[in-house]
Amino acid sequence: MSKLLLTILTAGSILLATYAPAQTQADFEIVLLGTGTPPPLMNRFGPATLVHVNGKTFLFDAGRGATQRMWQKRVRFGQGLDYLILTHLHSDHVLGIPDIFLTGWLGGPFGRRKEPMKLMGPPGTAALAKNLVAAYDWDIQTRIADQKLAPAGATIAARDIQPGVAYEAGGVKITAFKVDHGGGIIDPVYGYRIDYDGRAAVISGDRVYNETLIEQAKAWTC
Ligand SMILES: [Zn+2]
Repeated sequence: MSKLLLTILTAGSILLATYAPAQTQADFEIVLLGTGTPPPLMNRFGPATLVHVNGKTFLFDAGRGATQRMWQKRVRFGQGLDYLILTHLHSDHVLGIPDIFLTGWLGGPFGRRKEPMKLMGPPGTAALAKNLVAAYDWDIQTRIADQKLAPAGATIAARDIQPGVAYEAGGVKITAFKVDHGGGIIDPVYGYRIDYDGRAAVISGDRVYNETLIEQAKAWTC
């Protein structure tokens, strides 16, 4: 079956996807929630790409405004987000994490997470999560005592990952690969490939020209 190459260029990232036109896209949907950069613009929230695939929901990066954009789409980011996955730890890609983490723990249909929030990304991700939990300790302890919220929901199951298969379940495979952010010393920065049912999407994160990214994307266009 012939496949179509879809290329979406944004200021900070490139996203490539292949899909078979005859199939429904309902089981593999990609939503660009934010494509901005550090300047706090009203018309472009920070980097955040939502991937719905075979009933699972993944968020790649959590820039400024990620919660507003998810709830605008009625994504229940408290209980309905299966994994938050980071390309790299630049602030504009992670500023939304505490909002997802803490607001997703609160009552309301957007929240109500009672289990640890799942997070993975390049080395440094686990330390970021640990320090975020510590930074918000007053809020967490106060709400546990005052609102009787589930303590487990105010924790983060975070892990640092290396290039390779990062997630594989239910026919969905997510593979991390290194990309060159540019700037020489910005490392590591990952791109991700999501495979499902003969289709694939590739998310680069920030990058300059990358042969690696091109090779990753080419693999599904032939
Ligand atoms: Zn960056």
